[in-house]
Amino acid sequence: AKELGAGGRVEIYAAHMHTEVVRRLEFQTRLRQALADREFLLEYQPVVDLESSRVTAVEALVRWRDEDGLVGPDEFLGPAEESGLIVPLGEWILREACAKVALWRAADWDIGLAVNLSVKQILSPRFVETVAGVLADTGLPADALTLEVDEEVLLENPGDAVASLAELRGLGVRLAIDDFGMGYASLAHLRRLRVDEIKIDPSFIRDLGNDGTVTLLTSTIIRLGQDLGVRVIAEGIESMEQLERLRAMGCVYGQGFLVAGPMGAEGVEALVGGETGTPLGR
Ligand code: C2E
Ligand code: MG
Ligand code: MG
Ligand code: MG
Repeated sequence: AKELGAGGRVEIYAAHMHTEVVRRLEFQTRLRQALADREFLLEYQPVVDLESSRVTAVEALVRWRDEDGLVGPDEFLGPAEESGLIVPLGEWILREACAKVALWRAADWDIGLAVNLSVKQILSPRFVETVAGVLADTGLPADALTLEVDEEVLLENPGDAVASLAELRGLGVRLAIDDFGMGYASLAHLRRLRVDEIKIDPSFIRDLGNDGTVTLLTSTIIRLGQDLGVRVIAEGIESMEQLERLRAMGCVYGQGFLVAGPMGAEGVEALVGGETGTPLGR
């Protein structure tokens, strides 16, 4: 009876696994169809100079327009990576964002673009050529593009990913480490790959002023960036107090709901167009 019971449990477990696998495959199929049906879109979150509030760049953030509204990347990037869809999706994101920002620059806006990468993309065949091709096609100068990689990219994929990223940097593309400070080897990564920017994880900014250690770590990261000649961007600024603290620490760049959340391209046009008074060619 004992064995039967165990067997029963195994079967229940297997049935549950089966449902889960089917559910995942179905979701991956929906995502694939969504790409074909052009249901993905980009929002852009401004990166601002904390002193002047000038928008220096925008970060492209992907969304999926589902039947019931906008779905965020945390809901679908995992499955998109698992199924490999992230490779064509990532290329679409890059091309769409580069084209948009090239247009803005043609209207005389001095604005950069940041695009997030997933590790599957970086390790995909001919990734460097793809990026170079998109830049050539859209006319965006290489140094106007920053590619953001999470620390885990560097952790899990030492050799190949680092080599491709270094090659891209050789073409003039800028590199950023996203969510800096979350990995246990944040500092070691700076030795293995030369980067142009580090983005301080929002968890640090959230606890600024409340937690002495976090406050000290944040100011240390900012100083480190200054000493290395690496641009530091504070992410997730939500309050005036956080902004003031960051300014006092010498942090020059930031992103966050306080300044501007992610918005559609028209939102950026209204914001930056209103700021500079430059009419935008469409
Ligand atoms: P990330 O690259 O660190 O992007 C910043 C995330 O923080 C965005 O979430 C943004 O909406 C959110 N955020 C901005 N300001 C604030 C703030 O003041 N407070 C808080 N709490 N959050 C803020 P989102 O758009 O949901 O993106 C989540 C993550 O998904 C991104 O984190 C990035 O790792 C990934 N992701 C987004 N778009 C893409 C993409 O096009 N390609 C790839 N590979 N990954 C992407
Ligand atoms: Mg990012
Ligand atoms: Mg990221
Ligand atoms: Mg981040």
